[in-house]
Amino acid sequence: MSDVFMEQGLSDEEIFSQLDAMTADDIPNDGSAFAFVYDAGKEAKEVARRAFAKCMTGNGLDPTAYPSARRLENDVVAAALSHLRAPEGAVGTATAGGTESVVLSVKAARDYARKTRPEVTAPEMLVPETAHACFHKGAHYLGVKLVPVAVDPNTMRPSVEDMRAKINANTILLVASAPSYAHGVIDPIEEVGALALEHDLLFHVDACIGGWVLPFQRELGIEQPEFDFTVPGVTSISVDLHKYAFAPKGISVLAHRKPELRDAQYFTCAHWTGYSVINTTTLGSKSLASLAAAWAVLRHLGRAGYREIFGRMYEAKKQLVEGVEAIDGLHVVGNPAMGLIAVVADKDLFTLADRMTAKGWHLQPTYKFGSSPTHIHFGIDASNTHRVGALLADLREAAVDLPDPIEAPEPVVQMIEMMAQGAGGDLDAGMMMRELGIVDGKLPAEQAMIHRLLDAASPKAREALLVKFFGELFS
Ligand SMILES: *Cc1c(COP(=O)(O)O)cnc(C)c1O
Repeated sequence: MSDVFMEQGLSDEEIFSQLDAMTADDIPNDGSAFAFVYDAGKEAKEVARRAFAKCMTGNGLDPTAYPSARRLENDVVAAALSHLRAPEGAVGTATAGGTESVVLSVKAARDYARKTRPEVTAPEMLVPETAHACFHKGAHYLGVKLVPVAVDPNTMRPSVEDMRAKINANTILLVASAPSYAHGVIDPIEEVGALALEHDLLFHVDACIGGWVLPFQRELGIEQPEFDFTVPGVTSISVDLHKYAFAPKGISVLAHRKPELRDAQYFTCAHWTGYSVINTTTLGSKSLASLAAAWAVLRHLGRAGYREIFGRMYEAKKQLVEGVEAIDGLHVVGNPAMGLIAVVADKDLFTLADRMTAKGWHLQPTYKFGSSPTHIHFGIDASNTHRVGALLADLREAAVDLPDPIEAPEPVVQMIEMMAQGAGGDLDAGMMMRELGIVDGKLPAEQAMIHRLLDAASPKAREALLVKFFGELFS
């Protein structure tokens, strides 16, 4: 019998003390995390919590049975459309997150092409190397070929010329980010929009992470490239509310310039014996909790609340960028438009990361890919702006006397590559994890060796290793 599913239920007290223990090691929201955490403070969280609980049992499957599903979604989508300066007639959908918004933008493009360009039998989309992995997921799930677009190694912006050169009779969709997750860089949206118009193609702008922030930065007089529906040629935009709108996980918006595109995003099925299905997103039954929480947080903070937070975050971004550039041997990659900062080191980066972990910081070491170097990712959030000074002081100290870059042991890298190709028999993932010091699903305090191996491995091998790793975690 399972310890969790016992004959008799437990008291609330026991249940919640167990939950406290369960969550004790999670990343705290105390400002020590420069990744993962999106937190506008206690009051906003309390408002979200109450709205979440209130609407937890509603079902977005049927907005005629749950009118609140329709009202809440229409309100939140209208807020997003006006925030993104969408034209009259634009429409949108509340989705469960950035990945779902992006995957659905690909589905909409594919099904719209099926209808309007039936001669296209092998659809392709042009996606910058720096675009989020969820475009690869959309390509994989939906049978659309992803054609990568090269990025400039200095600016980390995609080459519009490379994109132009890769357009062919099968191209259905162009993609750009505003900004990219890794480097916080806004792609040349106006140029790609012009290209889309010239070739009569759809163009999705992934503003999942920046879409709530950038319009306020513009209001604050900060200079930045345009990215929204005022740019000719942009046909859809994704924006996550569970990132910098500070709603709990499970809410994003996918906005379309034309209703015909959203029609192509929907899925319907009357070919079975149960109720006739229309799903606006990938889920069937879906909770209204996160949608209601987002609605409530928008109401709670108001435009003034967000503007204040994003002004503070922008100042913190400047402080961090200038502070890093002033440290010997550390550099910022590209020119981040907001608080998403990639930092590289002349010396051993993963030793630096371990030293920062030992000082109590939660950062995101990131591996090299294409033109993007091995780096540490720093995300500025409402919850950590007041800690940037302390972070910089520790970075300055941690950057002293770093060893030269340390190579991963070649035989181990070769073993990983062989495993990824399915050669050399089945790797004992459990043994390998114990070797690397991973115990009970927890990474060791010093992770440099693990990162070095993954950084040295090919992307394919990294993927294979991660499957093994997660198989172990969830068994
Ligand atoms: C976070 C992010 C996504 C994916 O969003 P999830 O909510 O994690 O599914 C897509 N694009 C960008 C630029 C992002 O930062």
